[in-house]
Amino acid sequence: MRLLLVEDDETLAGRLRDALERAGYAVDVSGDGEDAAFLGETEPYQLIVLDLGLPTLDGLSVLKQWRAAGVETPVLILTARSAWTDKVEGMDAGADDYLAKPFQPEELLARLRALARRAHGRAAPVLTCGRIRLDPRAASVTLDGAAVQLTGQEYRLLHHLMLNPDHTVSRTELTEQLYAQDFDRDSNTIEVFVARLRRKLGAQAIETVRGLGYRLGTCE
Ligand code: CA
Repeated sequence: MRLLLVEDDETLAGRLRDALERAGYAVDVSGDGEDAAFLGETEPYQLIVLDLGLPTLDGLSVLKQWRAAGVETPVLILTARSAWTDKVEGMDAGADDYLAKPFQPEELLARLRALARRAHGRAAPVLTCGRIRLDPRAASVTLDGAAVQLTGQEYRLLHHLMLNPDHTVSRTELTEQLYAQDFDRDSNTIEVFVARLRRKLGAQAIETVRGLGYRLGTCE
């Protein structure tokens, strides 16, 4: 799952990036309002964390610009503890949730999991498909109850397919969800990751749809 983190405080941004990457996200970081506005409109993020106080363009304006352009990605805004008006204005401008600074990274991660669930019309925290169980809270996967060790890319690929169980997902879309922006991307590697996931989870876990991409196997 690809996530945009917009935060101009470099120390905080670094801490949050580490926590988000450990939780399995591919993270792009921006510390500048105009840069973030552009990224949010052009890159296919599944979630966005947006600080409101930013150089060149404030977060509220960035958010309004995204919503006016039809960007529907769930956005969580970071506000100052005392500024209740920021929360109201932010939510009314199209934010889906907020967190007041300072906060524990765990709370941010929990709120992002809830936003991702809601965006995919799910209420249960754990994703299951037949014998496969994926728990975003621990970024962990089990097969028949036994832990399966996955790399970050394998985990993100499986997570994306499990969040979209009835869709055929193209290799391009999968590539975009697997890597952060500054990564050297190669859509041929998707085949390699799919082969590895099939070895670990069973050949039926992922179906190939000729010429179109991949989909999650039948969940029974
Ligand atoms: Ca700031």
